[in-house]
Amino acid sequence: MAYAEESGVKVLFLVRTKNEAQAPIRELRKLRDKGVDVDFVVIRNRPDMCCLTSTRKLPYEEFLEECKFLRSSGECPYYLNIRMINLNDLMLHIMDEVGNVKEYVSTLCKLNVCPYEISRMYLDRARWV
Ligand code: SF4
Repeated sequence: MAYAEESGVKVLFLVRTKNEAQAPIRELRKLRDKGVDVDFVVIRNRPDMCCLTSTRKLPYEEFLEECKFLRSSGECPYYLNIRMINLNDLMLHIMDEVGNVKEYVSTLCKLNVCPYEISRMYLDRARWV
């Protein structure tokens, strides 16, 4: 972490299971609570980050087709709303409020924006992924 902060490199923390993602998020949150400016984003596969509960239960390939259709037809409100947000303000709020992946996704859904798309948009800016 010290090297990453000094050199400015981006850190990708890759995990295999949902549980393995909890500890790094918790640690990054603790650092933020102590005033350390760590900037992070969480990304998982699209179905796991989808706010539309009926759609995300589809088989993976069907889900991708449905999501693509909903985005291109303007029928996913969570996708439409991402145009109206201030990404930096939104992510500051998320990084200060959430303590695990479930909260990350549910908080963004409650704010009516697609968590997957928000994370994708923020990937370039975040130092910790
Ligand atoms: S754009 Fe996001 S919220 Fe909408 S269907 Fe696709 S993954 Fe789900």
